[in-house]
Amino acid sequence: MKVNKVVVPRWFDRHLHLRTGKMLKTVLPCTLNQRATGAVIMGNIPYPNQTSTIAKALAYRKEITSLIPVDSDFNPRMTYYLTDDTSPEEVMRGYEEGVWCAAKLYMANQKGHGGTTGSQHGVKNLLGRYPVFAAMEREGIPLLGHFEAVEEDVDEFDREIVSLERDLIPLLKAFPELMVVFEHITDGRAADFVAQAPYQIRATVTAHHLMMNRNAMFWIGMNPANYCRPVPKREDHRLKVRKYVTGGNRRFGAGTDSAPHDEEAKSRCYGCAAGIFTAPAAVEMYTTVFDEDDALKHLGPFLSENFLCLYEMKVSNEMMTIERTCTFDFWVPQKVGTVQIFAGGRYFPWKLVD
Ligand SMILES: [Zn+2]
Repeated sequence: MKVNKVVVPRWFDRHLHLRTGKMLKTVLPCTLNQRATGAVIMGNIPYPNQTSTIAKALAYRKEITSLIPVDSDFNPRMTYYLTDDTSPEEVMRGYEEGVWCAAKLYMANQKGHGGTTGSQHGVKNLLGRYPVFAAMEREGIPLLGHFEAVEEDVDEFDREIVSLERDLIPLLKAFPELMVVFEHITDGRAADFVAQAPYQIRATVTAHHLMMNRNAMFWIGMNPANYCRPVPKREDHRLKVRKYVTGGNRRFGAGTDSAPHDEEAKSRCYGCAAGIFTAPAAVEMYTTVFDEDDALKHLGPFLSENFLCLYEMKVSNEMMTIERTCTFDFWVPQKVGTVQIFAGGRYFPWKLVD
């Protein structure tokens, strides 16, 4: 029987970029309108304000909370931005004081180039941070990892598998109880690892990586709207990741990695910004994917339950309702402000109604 309505607990975005200033004001309401109880906020905001100290993380949280309406219960879960100067004491102090719920690992290469927006001040020497990971393992502080090798001689499409083998596996062997989230996973081999590894490892998955393969970056010509980091991979990788997600594997959870850039930054012919903005319709996009795979029964855990305790969040008591639209009445808008929405102008057969 065709299911026309899904009721699940209100969801939680495990990976979200809100930016600052005018952009923050533009994009925050999109996630609030999607009924999220909260989100894990990425701290890769412009240098020198990246959330690499307690003071910076508190200032950023204050900027966000000042824009949340008083009747909203949206809970921004802050993250610590790891650098080569990070000490175990700093990470532990901010965690104990409730400033952040996890530490975020962006890696940079020796030239100071990173794998994504604002990652150039990230960790160049992973081994040098091993004392920090030891403290995090001991204290139960999660590590949210952007596992992509960022060296110039690593092929763009192999970045994730190279980092898995070179960085993550040795890290987990050294700290087998460390709780790790493999962020925005795209490589089928990495997904196999997460599903089977005898470690405390989970993965977030974006809506856009479930919906497109790497051809999407080249449709009709270069298509910057579909360019993000990690870049989408081959079709077999997409299908492998998707199989775990819609198959109900509890180690995978929704994290949009919704990352707004204004049109000017996305349309530059040299140095176009990486990032895909899905916040205004993320629930509808995920629901459509699960429906296409005849797997709506697994949607609730993926959106609203899986490994929420890592972020000190509980499964919400409040429910949200997503309905199949009988008419073509849910078209994703093209833009919010100056930011293009992923799949803007496309019809989706599901709509979050309450
Ligand atoms: Zn991100």
